[in-house]
Amino acid sequence: MSQIVREGFAQFCKRQQEGVSLVTDAINQEESEQKAYSGWLEKRQERKRKLLYQELDLILRHKSEILAMPRYADIDVHYALSGFVGYARASTRWELLFGSSWVIVNLGLASLLKIWEHEQFQVKCDCGGTAYIYKFGGSPGSGASYASAFCPHCKQEIHGIKNRSPWTYYHVATDAFTADTTRFVENFLDKWKIANEKYQENLKDEHRNPRTQPVHMLRGDDAPCGIETLIQELRLKEV
Ligand SMILES: [Zn+2]
Repeated sequence: MSQIVREGFAQFCKRQQEGVSLVTDAINQEESEQKAYSGWLEKRQERKRKLLYQELDLILRHKSEILAMPRYADIDVHYALSGFVGYARASTRWELLFGSSWVIVNLGLASLLKIWEHEQFQVKCDCGGTAYIYKFGGSPGSGASYASAFCPHCKQEIHGIKNRSPWTYYHVATDAFTADTTRFVENFLDKWKIANEKYQENLKDEHRNPRTQPVHMLRGDDAPCGIETLIQELRLKEV
């Protein structure tokens, strides 16, 4: 992420005289590594997106389990849906910087499945099955919209879906993401409250375990689960 440095003419002359460069090699190195990292992330997301859609029929067969289990429900799928109305992009991921710490909130798998429950996000496919919209765009002025969908039954893409309210797409998607964000923040605050109370209690014990700092208690009990693990676990259930 490149940053703009503003410099007045007097400062420029003084700096040139002192022989101090405006951007150091260390800054250039950091920027080039950030760029390489972003490229790697994009490739990784594209691989995950392909896997999710390729296995969407399997995922849908296990929808009720996914909705019921936080380990599955909260899997990051922010890359699976994209859309905008005019300049308003429907957020599926927020990267919030607090000091030097990043907090990232993603659209969860359960929310994506709930978005697809809305008629607005469903299309009848020629094969007779229901296809699900994964990309939309629209104009707030004319009310025109277009969308693309994927059919999990025959694995075909459907393009050029028109004449649907662009703001309905937008609001259904962003409301689901807002619900994810709210759940994340409330869950975090609850965990912190409990961890801190336990910590205060432990402080009274001079032989206390050093791993009873609140930060150690913020972790969840579940093993982390990504889309790859989910698909493997669902396949095994069907054997
Ligand atoms: Zn189909």
